[in-house]
Amino acid sequence: MTADKNKKTLVSSDTSPPRPMTMTQKIIAAHAGKDYVSPGEIVMANVDLVLGNDITSPVAIAEFDKAGAKSVFDRKKVALVMDHFTPNKDIKAAEQCKCVRTFAKKHGVENYFDTGDVGVEHALIPERGLVTSGDLVIGADSHTCTYGALGAFSTGIGSTDMAAAMATGKVWLKVPGALRFKLTGKLGRYVTGKDLILHIIGMIGVDGALYKSMEFTGEGVHTLSVSDRLCIANMAIEAGAKNGIFPVDDKTIEFLKEHGADEPRIYEADPDAEYEKTYEIDLSEVRQTVAFPHLPENTRTFDEIGDIPIDQIVIGSCTNGRLEDLIIAAEVMRGHRVAPGVRAIIIPATQKIYLEAMEMGLLREFIEAGCVVSTPTCGPCLGGHMGILAEGERCVATTNRNFIGRMGHPKSEVYLASPAVAAASAIAGKLAPAI
Ligand code: SF4
Repeated sequence: MTADKNKKTLVSSDTSPPRPMTMTQKIIAAHAGKDYVSPGEIVMANVDLVLGNDITSPVAIAEFDKAGAKSVFDRKKVALVMDHFTPNKDIKAAEQCKCVRTFAKKHGVENYFDTGDVGVEHALIPERGLVTSGDLVIGADSHTCTYGALGAFSTGIGSTDMAAAMATGKVWLKVPGALRFKLTGKLGRYVTGKDLILHIIGMIGVDGALYKSMEFTGEGVHTLSVSDRLCIANMAIEAGAKNGIFPVDDKTIEFLKEHGADEPRIYEADPDAEYEKTYEIDLSEVRQTVAFPHLPENTRTFDEIGDIPIDQIVIGSCTNGRLEDLIIAAEVMRGHRVAPGVRAIIIPATQKIYLEAMEMGLLREFIEAGCVVSTPTCGPCLGGHMGILAEGERCVATTNRNFIGRMGHPKSEVYLASPAVAAASAIAGKLAPAI
């Protein structure tokens, strides 16, 4: 690590807590103005950022107005991201964005992101340096847990809580108990953070971490890229977790600096912190993994997968639409063409990623291989637009949910996988590993 270098910035070094705490407990305690919080305790905590999107913000705005709130608590600490149905897919989407745009203007919300500037929220917020280690972030979107990758406590809340937090800067939280995932070793070639989190969800189930904090520890953590950590924390909610969280190391600090985030506040779990359970995972043993319909826990590795022909692949979303994801997908596709009859949709998660991929020549490679490249949007991930499935169709997607009807017709199927597997499958015309 790495934390050695940053010891002087350790928040907890001078004030020993009365009882040992996990990272999550420490961040919540600090934001609740307490020395110690225990699992199950309900606290009121100050928030560093309140997030909403084009679907959830209009509901929160209606509640905000109904409650008679006159202003947002801090114009810099509210982020409104128009990402789900944009560029507006229909009149309703246009009206929702108009509602949020008007609210942002009226209250001087500084972090309002609209078409031309927008990206998928959980890729955009870290990219814009709006979150740092030690922050407490809430968002009216279940995948707000993504920022745990940067050593923040972040979690999804409902639109009513979003309204209250926009007005007061506070949120009620029940302190979660914790599960520890102790990682050793290193992931193999074309085995990524997506394979690891699918492996974990397959192992513990979609309710395996219900209202718990998933804390990732061990030497193996430092071998994971920040992009991998963002993907893993993003899917903590798919195991039912309240949050997922990683320790802060040199890679985190470098990422935060590169993106202009505030100075990190580093919290470390105490060595004797209590975990309800510890899982030990050797990263070198994790294999390319696919979640079959219709739950992220229905995982299989390729030795368990027969011939599954596909109609579409999607590479994008807050889970796997980052530059690293596009680089690996392009590498796998290089020298090949998308199989006849397969639609391959590539969606860079933000404008910056889009531009960087263009400058690197990746977009040309995708297009020449027979893919279509979309402007940043959540789009098909939630069955919104830009790649809806018909009855009986199968899609390999780098997204995070494969529930019934998630990407279109209730009788369509979504197979969750990494960008490498999605790219290999596009070429093969069926579910295929990257080799
Ligand atoms: Fe939600 Fe999908 Fe958008 Fe992520 S990409 S915020 S999971 S709709």
